[in-house]
Amino acid sequence: PSPRSSVIIIGAGVSGLSAAKVLAENGIGDLLILEASDRIGGRIRKEKFGDVSVELGAGWIAGVGGKESNPVWEIAAKLGLRTCFSDYSNARYNIYDRSGKIFPSGIAADSYKKAVDSAIQKLKGLESNCVEDATNRTDFTLTPKTPIELAIDFILHDFEMAEVEPISTYVDFGEREFLVADERGYEYLLYKMAEEFLFTSEGKILDNRLKLNKVVRELQHSRNGVTVRTEDGCVYEADYVILSASIGVLQSDLISFRPPLPRWKTEAIEKCDVMVYTKIFLKFPYKFWPCGPGKEFFIYAHERRGYYTFWQHMENAYPGSNILVVTLTNAESKRVESQSDEETLKEAMVVLRDMFGSDIPDATDILVPRWWNNRFQRCSYSNYPMISNNQVINDIKAPVGRIFFTGEHTSERFNGYVHGGHLAGIDTSKAVLEEMRKDERQNDKQNQNL
Ligand code: FAD
Repeated sequence: PSPRSSVIIIGAGVSGLSAAKVLAENGIGDLLILEASDRIGGRIRKEKFGDVSVELGAGWIAGVGGKESNPVWEIAAKLGLRTCFSDYSNARYNIYDRSGKIFPSGIAADSYKKAVDSAIQKLKGLESNCVEDATNRTDFTLTPKTPIELAIDFILHDFEMAEVEPISTYVDFGEREFLVADERGYEYLLYKMAEEFLFTSEGKILDNRLKLNKVVRELQHSRNGVTVRTEDGCVYEADYVILSASIGVLQSDLISFRPPLPRWKTEAIEKCDVMVYTKIFLKFPYKFWPCGPGKEFFIYAHERRGYYTFWQHMENAYPGSNILVVTLTNAESKRVESQSDEETLKEAMVVLRDMFGSDIPDATDILVPRWWNNRFQRCSYSNYPMISNNQVINDIKAPVGRIFFTGEHTSERFNGYVHGGHLAGIDTSKAVLEEMRKDERQNDKQNQNL
């Protein structure tokens, strides 16, 4: 068996690494990080596509320019990460119908205002009725019917909730969003973070306190410590465990607990909705879409909600890359994940030909991330009910004995975001340090009594 560690951190995404860094800075040298996949980063992940780096997971630093400074923005600025400002506000004026006509701006603005008003009305109704849960981002508006209403409903609720209810990220950190457009990727931030407390050489992490390809399957816990078993048959012992696996993983049966988690915990975990959000990248021999100010985002209005609705061209991020990105969510994401990429490419081409005419060229390449089918993710991010007291999130976050829970889904104010994961990791490690101090005080007392 491996020597006992003070703390084992499960998962090397932003929350796990932030937690580990704080522990290391506080003198916890014997920590161990177990990561299921073959890389650090988790839901922050770049991949080469065409000649550029695209972000399969988190793409934006959201919440910039406000009264408080977003800590992730600060780190990015310090590292000189290349970013582009994203102005979503024009998207509503680039709504195409199936015959390729753009809806007149008056109609689009009107439909948009109606959708926002009805969502606010509905929300107020829910608040006054004290509905505690059972609502999510997609099912609380008056039912939209026409393709343009459906499209607006999709962009409003699957993207820009800030207009309907205050979101802490935008209230606290500001309303601007910046797309990371750096060849080193958003994940560069995490490598730099890891470098501060793990041994690295030539950009590679060589520290044996980070173990990759270690899929944790069982946590056996008692008053004295935690035994961690991995899929490859290894056993690790620790005083404390910080578990940063996503809410989707917690809802799956990947990790079992001995004794099982208490009911209040499993019920809370079940109550949290998971959002699947998929960015599909398409590469073309040349660009055939409008570029220039106000054209970065465009919308396709179809009679099926969320059917290849939200598009972005990458000319601002990477001029000359000839890449389009289309975003799908939830049921559409799952549907596309389960079919071949060729089929998805065909569907996307029909949509693009509806908008831009039959003589546009076929895409030469496609990239379809599969966050839902990835057993180490099982979601893109947590999605708490719109009207809920904080009980669910507090229960998800609360430790069970010596197992502490972290990750974006444990952040009360910033769940769903990179900065949420980052701040959650810091918070959780501080809570563990506090417990360790309590242990020490107790041991001291016992020794004095002897
Ligand atoms: P993760 O990054 O998921 O880290 C958890 C780690 O645990 C993973 O590396 C996983 O492999 C590992 N793990 C899981 N199970 C086990 C196990 N059994 N044993 C060992 N290891 C295990 N946020 C933004 O701020 N802006 C955005 O624009 C944005 N867009 C997004 C788009 C997509 C498509 C996705 C997927 C996410 C997006 N997010 C965005 C959210 C953001 O990526 C996450 O909130 C954040 O990265 C989560 O970090 P985490 O540490 O909580 O979890």
